[in-house]
Amino acid sequence: MNASTPLNLLPEVVDFLAASPLKAVVGGRDTDALDGGTFATLDPGTGEHLAHVVSMQAPDIDLAVQAAAKAFPAWSALHANERAVLIHRLADAIERRKPIIAQIEALDAGKVVSQAQNDVQVCVDTLRYFNNMALHVQRRTALPVSGHDAWTMRHAWGPCGFIFPWNFPFLLIGWGVSPALAAGNTVVIKPAEDTPLSALYLAHIAREIGFPDGVINVVTGTGPSAGAALAAHPGLKRFSFTGSPEVGRLVGAACGNNLTPCKLELGGKGAAVVFDDVDVEETARRLAVAITTHAGQVCCDATRWLVHERIYDRFVSASVTCLEQITVGYQMDSASQMGPVVNAKQKARVLGYLERGREEGARMLLPGGALDLPGRGGFYVKPALMAGSLSNIAAREEIFGPVAYLAPFKDERQAVDMANATDYGLANSVWSADLKRASRVAECMVAGNSWINAHNVFPHGVPYGGVNRSGAGGGVNSPETLFDYWRSQSVVRPH
Ligand code: NAD
Repeated sequence: MNASTPLNLLPEVVDFLAASPLKAVVGGRDTDALDGGTFATLDPGTGEHLAHVVSMQAPDIDLAVQAAAKAFPAWSALHANERAVLIHRLADAIERRKPIIAQIEALDAGKVVSQAQNDVQVCVDTLRYFNNMALHVQRRTALPVSGHDAWTMRHAWGPCGFIFPWNFPFLLIGWGVSPALAAGNTVVIKPAEDTPLSALYLAHIAREIGFPDGVINVVTGTGPSAGAALAAHPGLKRFSFTGSPEVGRLVGAACGNNLTPCKLELGGKGAAVVFDDVDVEETARRLAVAITTHAGQVCCDATRWLVHERIYDRFVSASVTCLEQITVGYQMDSASQMGPVVNAKQKARVLGYLERGREEGARMLLPGGALDLPGRGGFYVKPALMAGSLSNIAAREEIFGPVAYLAPFKDERQAVDMANATDYGLANSVWSADLKRASRVAECMVAGNSWINAHNVFPHGVPYGGVNRSGAGGGVNSPETLFDYWRSQSVVRPH
């Protein structure tokens, strides 16, 4: 980090970064890579160096899985109440340090600080949600079977592997590992190489509050080395991957090779279907907020806005007005509503889709493009709106930036067909004052999640996951997720 950067960083954040090169945490110990390798993580808002982090390879990953396996018998044997005390203590400690973690996350991921604070709170709430639920689940269930004594048992699996992407690093750790820990499993977490810092800070907190060594291990490194080694490790009993469909296929294949059950939470190309009985300006405003949250780097965003032809022109003009008013700026400035994208590659990806979409005939309702902020480097783009045929590449592929693609529809049937004309199946929304129609359309959408008069809604207890190119294996955030982290065993004795 450039010392001249005028940031009001908390002293704890400065101290944390000053310990660079930052070490992985394996078996409760700060750990270097065996080959001494490190990589740099950058501030996306300036392009400047934040810290070096150890870069692990297969032999390092093997040690982390061994540490998780060693910690498993004692952790899983704890009485549920004893484990719950430790997990609640962890949630409380994270909550107390929310401002610190939010700054670390904002710096590393390019996320505006208020959003980063929200992400930290979601992690805390998720830890508490699964922890409380685990206390009330019967682990032994008698079965009413004629002529036999029979029952089922729920056992924790063992060490579980997790690979996370860079867009919601801390929130997704909460969604991922909370049910695994509450059920009595130990975890090995690999954060994305663009955003390793908040995961490492979490491991420090866990150690400080007395979490047993080896229950939470954080390994850092690149996808093709550390990630691939973790996915292929035969010592893991369950695996969870969140990221792109392309890497999801590799991880799924590696887990399949070991017959390790694997959840895949992948990308999306969601639609918002907007009927002609909505408040046009308010709906446009809310979709504009959704597509610019974290610079549109949100898997479940509405990236295709399908609008009834009667209100289409008004909706376009309201959307353009809203997006033009979004303040794009450095993520650490409180006035910024949208920060940078995560890195130069992601910036080039967004600009490339604008270019290719235009070449294929899309109309640019709001051109978007690169944004240079005076006095800053960083990776900024402007919000963009495109329109035209849904066969356009920008309407078909996940851009992962602040870009929405609009198209008009005539009637309900056509709207549903257009929403479902995608290889993805993560999340869509339907907007209408007619709740009967809205429910009908919501139920016809081929995706894991449909929202009505809202977009990006995640109350705990509602399952969240994708189908088709968006995911496989069960999703997150619901009671079922906790049960996924117990293996079932039946015991039978004939009379
Ligand atoms: P990515 O697939 O490139 O990387 C995700 C993770 O996989 C990173 O930790 C990376 O290091 C690792 N990785 C890369 N190559 C690997 C390999 N060969 N083997 C094992 N691991 C490897 O994704 P990204 O660019 O970090 O994230 C964006 C993607 O994530 C988007 O597609 C987005 O929609 C998706 N996403 C989905 C959800 C969800 O809940 N469904 C949530 C957030 C993000």
